[in-house]
This record gives sequence, C-alpha cells and structure tokens, in this order.
Amino acid sequence: MIPFNQPPVTGKEQAYMQEAMENGKLSGDGLFTKACRQWMEERFDCPSVLLTPSCTHALEMAAMLLDIGPGDEVIMPSYTFVSTANAFVIRGADIVFVDIRPDTMNMDETVLEDAVTERTKAIVPVHYAGVACEMDAILSVANKHNLCVIEDAAQGVMSTYKGRALGTIGDFGCFSFHDTKNYTSGEGGALLINNTIWKERAEILREKGTNRSQYIRGQVDKYTWVDVGSSYLLSDLNAAFLYAQLEQADTINLARKAVWDMYYQELAPLAEQGKITLPSIPDECEHNAHMFYVKTKDIEERTALMDWLKQHQIASAFHYIPLHSSKAGKRFGQFRGQDRYTTKESERLLRLPLFYGLKEGDVHATAETVRSFYG
Ligand SMILES: *Cc1c(COP(=O)(O)O)cnc(C)c1O
Repeated sequence: MIPFNQPPVTGKEQAYMQEAMENGKLSGDGLFTKACRQWMEERFDCPSVLLTPSCTHALEMAAMLLDIGPGDEVIMPSYTFVSTANAFVIRGADIVFVDIRPDTMNMDETVLEDAVTERTKAIVPVHYAGVACEMDAILSVANKHNLCVIEDAAQGVMSTYKGRALGTIGDFGCFSFHDTKNYTSGEGGALLINNTIWKERAEILREKGTNRSQYIRGQVDKYTWVDVGSSYLLSDLNAAFLYAQLEQADTINLARKAVWDMYYQELAPLAEQGKITLPSIPDECEHNAHMFYVKTKDIEERTALMDWLKQHQIASAFHYIPLHSSKAGKRFGQFRGQDRYTTKESERLLRLPLFYGLKEGDVHATAETVRSFYG
C-alpha cells in the first residue's frame, strides 16, 4: 500500500531529544524552544514567534489576546478545519462563513466586505494547501473596517505571498507542526505576533496569566497572577524534534515540491482533456507543496476514483465537510452570502499521497493509476 502520509524524519531528531533530556529542562522555553523561535523569527522576518502545543492553541491564544467575546462576529471560510472556528466559538463569538474561490479553495476576497457588520471583530483567512489567500484585498477590507486579521497558516509554513512569509502578513499567524503537516514535532504549533504591542500580553496569557516571563528576565522580582491565561507552551522535548526538521526545512520543501511538480506534469494531459481539474497557483504565491489534489466531475466520480486507487493499493483522502453544513457549524455559525463554490468544489476534491520521502516510483504509479481510471 502507498500510504497517504508519513511524518517527516530528517535524522537528527533523536540526538536532539537526547540533548534536551541532558539539558535537564523538558518544560517550555528551554534551549531548543529558543533555537526554533530564533530560526523562525529570522527566516520569516517576524518580530516574535511563540511555540504552542498546536495550531489550535495558537488560534485560541489569538482569540484571547483580542478579547473576542459573546456578540462578536468572526469571518472565515466554511471550507476549513474545525479548529479555525472552535478557537472563537469557545470565546462565545458567532462564526460567519463566507464562500471560497474555486481556483485556490481559499476565502473569496471579493465577497468578504459584504459579510462585515457592526459586530465584526476579525477575519481569519486560511491558506489552503499552503497557497496564499489574496492578502492585499483582505487587508484592505480589514483596514477599512478596523478589523484584526489572524492568518490560519497551519498548512503554510515556508510559503510566501508577494515574497512575504505566510503567517507574517496579518496581525497574527498560526502555524501547525502536527504530524500531517510539512514540518512536525508530533503535535505542535506557533503563534506569530506581527505587531509587538501584543507581545507582552501574549507572554502572560501563555504562562497561565502570570508575569513569569518578566520574572525570568529579571524585570520583576517576584511573579504573580496578573491576567486571564492558560498553558500554551510546547515541551522542549517536542521543540528538539522540531528543530531537527527546521534545520532541514529547505531540503524537505524541495523534495515535496519535486513530488508536486511530478504529479502536475503527469496529470496535465488529463486536465487538458477536461477530465480533471488541477490546483492553480496565483503568480504572487510561492507554495510549499503541502498537498496535491485533483478535482473530479462530482462526488460520485470522486468516490469511484478513491475506490479505484484503493484497489490499486494507493491511499487517498478528501476532507472538510463544509463547516456551515455540520451539526456544530449550524449551531455556532451561519453562511453569509451565496454558497456558489464551497459545497460543490469540496465534493470534487481528492488528495493524493504526498510526503517527504515518497518515492518517485510511487508518484509515477499513483499518477498512472489516476490516468487508467479515466481510460
Ligand atoms: C491542521 C490544521 C489546523 C490544526 O492544527 P493543529 O496543530 O492540529 O491544532 C488548523 N487549521 C488548519 C487549516 C489545519 O490544516
């Protein structure tokens, strides 16, 4: 069986985890956490990066920092992972879902402004498949209506929009290091703080509402409870694993892109015959090959193709039942505007195996099997 995903391993993870154990500090903010933060701050040109136990936690932190509460509306695409919405739902906010663009599966920036009301507090663009949303248009709506922008860049680590790293363009960016993502620590994430006015409060919220970070830096002589908070630190053991991956980020990125390009080339003839649709990457976006998908005619054809692949020992996957049509989505949110593409396009999409270490022969075999399905 060709698996759908395998978490990346670069070789140094074990040695770094051993080192973390020998450092005698396994909790958060240890030496490997500092190394990861510094690496990301420099590489992505971000004033402050905080490691979190997941992207979900990074989104929750952003919602808490912005004091999102009951009565507030937060706009996001319906075609996304549940965490994008949950982070705001647990603060009592109402979720407003908007339609996506069919070419990138990202929030449709042209319908965004129509969804804004007096109650809107924030916009959460999701960079699907590591391909950037149209950030200039989104930021211009946000600036006009004085809204915060939180980028769900869970899938967008190492991608750029007009040369800027995803996650560094809005007020906040949220990364995921879950083992289904391009770089992993098992479970893990990061909050990118792009405006330093949030930095001090972020340090307090993640330290259970205490000023412990200031105490450790010697800025106060004892630490105490000063604000609301929770525990949003990643263990240094996980950071050690992650650092081994970040050091090899370019190698992993290039390997993934080689797989993506090979799929694209091998399947382009089918797309030219109008049998499938392939992903499209806008000119201003540099992507990270987070996923490769094809779009079939409709949901029936997708099910048949998935079965065909399975018969040929190839795993594939679809995802995201649009949130507005789910049980919780109906309870906590509403779709605003017309669902022109969200439902229809989500039913056509099928993801093919793509991971670091996927063999060229397996990419070829997968593409060949897709071609044989269409005769
Ligand atoms: C994976 C993912 C998340 C959640 O990431 P975790 O690190 O597992 O919490 C959130 N949003 C999107 C778009 C994702 O793909």
